[in-house]
Amino acid sequence: MFAALLPALSAGVPLSCQKETPVQHEKPQAPRGFVPIADKESTVRVLIVGSAQDVLLAVNGSYQIADNASNILEQGQLLARSKVSVDYSGIRIGGKCYKVNELRIKSTRDGAIEVNNVPYRGGVSLSQQPDNKLFVIEETEIEDFVTGVVGSEMPHLWNDEAHCAQAVAVRTYTMYKKKARRSEKYHLDMQDLAYRGMAGESPRLSDLVLKTKGLVMTYNGNIFPAYFHSACGGHTEDVSHVFRDESILPLSGVLCKYCSNSKYAKWKRDISKSVIEKKLRDSNVAVSNIRSIKTLDPGYGNHGSRVEIVYAGGSKEMGANDFRLLVGPNILCSTAFSAKSSGNNIAFSGNGWGHGVGLCQHGAQTMAKKGFKWSDIINYYYPKNELMRVY
Ligand SMILES: [Zn+2]
Repeated sequence: MFAALLPALSAGVPLSCQKETPVQHEKPQAPRGFVPIADKESTVRVLIVGSAQDVLLAVNGSYQIADNASNILEQGQLLARSKVSVDYSGIRIGGKCYKVNELRIKSTRDGAIEVNNVPYRGGVSLSQQPDNKLFVIEETEIEDFVTGVVGSEMPHLWNDEAHCAQAVAVRTYTMYKKKARRSEKYHLDMQDLAYRGMAGESPRLSDLVLKTKGLVMTYNGNIFPAYFHSACGGHTEDVSHVFRDESILPLSGVLCKYCSNSKYAKWKRDISKSVIEKKLRDSNVAVSNIRSIKTLDPGYGNHGSRVEIVYAGGSKEMGANDFRLLVGPNILCSTAFSAKSSGNNIAFSGNGWGHGVGLCQHGAQTMAKKGFKWSDIINYYYPKNELMRVY
């Protein structure tokens, strides 16, 4: 049997200022497609490198290399930094070839396994893909993973309550993905969130994550994908508007007055038309001689749902979030933009950083500085959520 409800926590603490009550929009009360929590396993599988030609691997301690049937193929005390690649004959680590399509590496010491110079706990698997590319998947404890993500997603100097709110959001998102992708090789990848393994951890963050250990948010008894982003720019977005997920109250969007002092509240960026055209072509969207780009169907926070690209040969529409990811999420800060053609460039100006759904991290930090608790913060950005302890 799983989890006991925590009604005292789920009620949350009302915000002190009436005018800051989240704006709630009428939404369906019985979401479909959400995944109930039913999995007690305490580990998560994370794709840390996907479709690579090669990676650098080192183990700074005693280790074992096994195949996917757990047969030990090699063990040693130290593996010097080596290039890992795959070819028709198997997986190569340095000069040695293992005639298998998957290897599992375990170390007895946390942080001893380094992949591309980033330290990871527990163990990693290396697997050969049909195109002779390499996948590297870490299997780690959820609480350690949450700590690593919190330290990668938020500056370490931010306030405790912001870190605790982020921890609950990360754990909820992780548990949701773990259930939704339970039969897949991995549950999460680096498109989902920022994660730098143990490099994101610190003793203080571990203590803060421990304060909320096992707590996740639910709605109508179901765990949901508790998205988070850097800065919303004034109003968070409805999940259905950005990701086409079913809309539910906790992900329906709220007014946010807390991120206006962020450096990402307003931004401008000139991007070369030829760069955009190449990135579109690389994803099989054939456009040339772009004339204009505009967002369509803006949401509560002005993030476009779709983008129209007018070019010499006609026009195309695509999902705004897809367009942003394709151009580069660190280049095109958000989809709440207007764009003007300016010679060889498109001049973008917009609001916020990230997709705009769920927790606004800069808003969370401002709330923490104003004295709000982590429960206030998650109840603000995920209205009507109910906390549940899953372990
Ligand atoms: Zn915000």
